[in-house]
Amino acid sequence: MRRSKTIAALATVLAASSVLLAEQPVANAADDQGLYVAATAYTFDGDGTPAATTDYFSTGDANTTSTAAAATDTSCTDKTYALKSWKVGTLTWLYNGTGVPTTVAGTALDTIKAATTTVAKGTNRCGLPTSTSTTSTFTYGGTTTVKPQVASNGTCTGNDGKSVTGWGALPTKVLAYTCTYYNARGVVVASDTLIDNVAYTWFTTKPANCTGAKYDLQTTLTHERLHTAGLAHVDQAKDPAQVMTPASAPCDTSRRLLAAGDYAGLKAAASATK
Ligand SMILES: [Zn+2]
Repeated sequence: MRRSKTIAALATVLAASSVLLAEQPVANAADDQGLYVAATAYTFDGDGTPAATTDYFSTGDANTTSTAAAATDTSCTDKTYALKSWKVGTLTWLYNGTGVPTTVAGTALDTIKAATTTVAKGTNRCGLPTSTSTTSTFTYGGTTTVKPQVASNGTCTGNDGKSVTGWGALPTKVLAYTCTYYNARGVVVASDTLIDNVAYTWFTTKPANCTGAKYDLQTTLTHERLHTAGLAHVDQAKDPAQVMTPASAPCDTSRRLLAAGDYAGLKAAASATK
């Protein structure tokens, strides 16, 4: 009996590793507490130069991908999603406003709460039913001085048992970075998100005539919360309307709410038995 449990645990580690290898740059480690950690980065074209066509950089390589506007909006027809190896049971998250950019200092927390609620309820662009029973999946626990355990080089630095969202420096092209710890049953025990406060300009209300390297905080946090909830990236070019593309474009606010694939993925992650 004990032997089979050990084998099951090893299988979990291997499964997590294979996911992570496909999604660089990430750090991963299994500690001796039986917890696993995975990191997910949200990236984009970081040169800030307005361009006729927007190029995205996929995580882990420098290849550009054509992102010409789709002929039709695939928000509600593309049901593609990919899953991580964890799901959220109940998670209390904290906010550390140290280092918040002055441009969003007064609005950032409410915007992060809104993005979190979008994921908790499954609020979407497609008229699909939202859930009231899962609103307690993410609970806001107040502000904290505890720092998110994400290093400026984009590595996870440990698990203090607290799920903190905050601000700091991140590697080039990375908008935000989430480190998620989950147990052997695949249930998240902590998830830290660090938002860049050095390289990029954030907005919570889209500026008129938006140009340059300005990014929507709500879209980014919706993306990060979906990672925490167990979603992985979809294809940047094939699934451009989903929140879970690896990259985001400047001034884009079209993906604050879930597309059909994000929604389907959220349901699948929540109902998965681990
Ligand atoms: Zn991501």
